[in-house]
Amino acid sequence: MVGSGPAGLTFARVLHRHGYPVAVLERDPAPGARPRGGTLDLHEGLGQLALDKAGLLAEFQALSRPEGQAMRILDADGTVLRDWRPRPDDRANPEIDRGQLRDLLLGELDVQWGRAVTQVVPGTRDGVLVHFAEGREETFDLVVGADGAWSRIRPAVSSVTPHYTGVTLVETSLDDVDTRHPDLAGLIGDGSVAVYGVNRALVAQRNSGGHAKVYAQFRAPLDWHTNLDLADVEAVRSGLLALFDGWAAPVLDLLRHGTAFVHRPLYVLPVSHTWTHIPGVTLLGDAAHLMPPLGAGANLAMLEGAELAESIATDPGDLDKAVRAFEEQMWARAGRWSKITTAGLERLVSPDPAEALALFDEVQPS
Ligand SMILES: Cc1cc2nc3c(=O)[nH]c(=O)nc-3n(C[C@H](O)[C@H](O)[C@H](O)COP(=O)(O)OP(=O)(O)OC[C@H]3O[C@@H](n4cnc5c(N)ncnc54)[C@H](O)[C@@H]3O)c2cc1C
Repeated sequence: MVGSGPAGLTFARVLHRHGYPVAVLERDPAPGARPRGGTLDLHEGLGQLALDKAGLLAEFQALSRPEGQAMRILDADGTVLRDWRPRPDDRANPEIDRGQLRDLLLGELDVQWGRAVTQVVPGTRDGVLVHFAEGREETFDLVVGADGAWSRIRPAVSSVTPHYTGVTLVETSLDDVDTRHPDLAGLIGDGSVAVYGVNRALVAQRNSGGHAKVYAQFRAPLDWHTNLDLADVEAVRSGLLALFDGWAAPVLDLLRHGTAFVHRPLYVLPVSHTWTHIPGVTLLGDAAHLMPPLGAGANLAMLEGAELAESIATDPGDLDKAVRAFEEQMWARAGRWSKITTAGLERLVSPDPAEALALFDEVQPS
């Protein structure tokens, strides 16, 4: 297993539960080496199902935030257009911090930190040859690439690479929002607030511990920042405030009070990415089907991890059969979600902000 994101850890955890050890090879030098990221909503039939298969659903329920399903939509003038609150018993899509989910999945798993894979070569006499950045090589029966968007395993099965969607996301954070920015805490509420304008959106999401993430999203060429030093916090803030010029002051305060800014141009793989099956290598999660971040990627990644593990545990004597069956199932489901999220991004960051509202009206219970 290469990668200890949601896909890799769920795979390892479920396989471990069935009594099979798995080597998890992770590029990061330690669990806390990178900022732990924002919040994820885990759906009942996807991410939560995967946690159930891992025996972790009860622990998830204790950690997760069902109230985080609340969603408020504003227009650029600050007018509240929708204000959805979950019912007290609604557990369809509760939120959990990405760091909490990682700790939950990690448990006692034995991850080999600091082991960046550079290349895999299937079909050698001893199995699949894995090259590591530190210069070593090892062979394995099966290599599962769960190493995300810029997978080093993917080239062994597919020549496809991610392409830019035309939408860029710049992420910032608010700390101690309830005490330091009570007005913004009120605006964000228990869950998320999203503001839609022409080819632009601002989304803020409450995480646990009084932390909030803010995402500025806009259509722009990849080189939109050529005259901007992305490492200069104040320059990026001014650049963003100029992009959102004319929006209501309380909404722009989400950017005015943001701390560091992280630049994330959104890349995707083609919708319905598949490959000719190669014995000994497969892909899971973003490595297989990177799609716009509309609440599906981690969910699919986890369910795929759980399903591949179950498939292998059911028929450990025929790894190749288990992997083939899994791939067919993954491709069909991921293809459907890829279409949904690609169409969704077109409508959420669109020339007509009414499209974003219409999309929410279609998917949110009223
Ligand atoms: C802003 C944002 C918000 C999102 N919100 C949601 C949400 O609410 N719900 C949802 O379902 N999805 C969400 N997503 C999508 C979700 O984050 C991804 O789909 C998910 O993380 C994919 O999991 P993964 O395990 O496939 O890959 P990753 O999470 O990318 O994990 C890959 C792992 O592999 C490691 N790795 C990479 N290269 C190597 C290498 N060469 N050797 C060894 N290890 C390597 C990495 O360090 C990492 O640990 C969001 C995405 C973004 C950007």
